[in-house]
Amino acid sequence: MPELPEVETIANGVDRRVRGDSIVSAWFSSYREPFTTPVDEMAAALPGLRIARVRRVGKHIVADLEATGPARGARAKAREEQQAAGQLLVHLGMTGRLLVTAPEVPWAPHTHAVLGLASGRELRFVDPRRFGRIGLVAGFTGPGSEPLTISKDDFAALFRGRKLSIKSALLNQKLLHGVGNIYADESLARAGIRPTRAAGRLTREQLDRLHKALRLVLQQAIRAGGSSVSDYVDADGEKGFFQIRHRVYQRTGEPCPVCGTPIRRVVLGGRSTHFCPSCQK
Ligand SMILES: [Zn+2]
Repeated sequence: MPELPEVETIANGVDRRVRGDSIVSAWFSSYREPFTTPVDEMAAALPGLRIARVRRVGKHIVADLEATGPARGARAKAREEQQAAGQLLVHLGMTGRLLVTAPEVPWAPHTHAVLGLASGRELRFVDPRRFGRIGLVAGFTGPGSEPLTISKDDFAALFRGRKLSIKSALLNQKLLHGVGNIYADESLARAGIRPTRAAGRLTREQLDRLHKALRLVLQQAIRAGGSSVSDYVDADGEKGFFQIRHRVYQRTGEPCPVCGTPIRRVVLGGRSTHFCPSCQK
């Protein structure tokens, strides 16, 4: 499952390649699962729309689409004619990939969507296991707050009075969107907070440390090109991800890099959770 840094990397890669390009054709596979909008509807709506921007929202990839008015007069006039025309919303699921390719590149097995672009290239959605989703939406902002931009005060307020563990709270997409298991464990390790602590019982100082640590690990991973342990490829179709040095994640029994105490693993809310019993209070 790609986590926030991987999705950010992919969204940025796709944005660099297709921003400003227009969709001229749309093809979809006959499988039903990948599509959250009927394919007939998408095939009718997409051609003619311009891709204004591609960005990450939580763990989704959002392509903002705009209708372009009939070409007439000055460029400024034309810009006024552009209207938001919804968004193409992609969730990569377990094995989904977005590829920007030349049309002569053979289709990968399990290709579910191919958007022909005015530049001559194609934007393809490939997903062998079909847990990924693609569809048309409008005004998508995601369910929770954005971990990379939320303020310290707003971050602290998210957890006030909550009895669930801080680890489960970090994974709750209604609070913060896009934080997955790796970055929850790693940010708690760096903040020195035990994952089992009740979210509402943490001090403001601890929450400030966690706010900083979470942004830091996410930004480090984005810089490293994501850190998925799975077999992911970036928007070019090449392997783009490297495993960052995890302090605790999947290092059960190994010495904590700070104090040498063996890393412990517990299951919390059904998720594997790793921490140093000495550094994390
Ligand atoms: Zn330690």
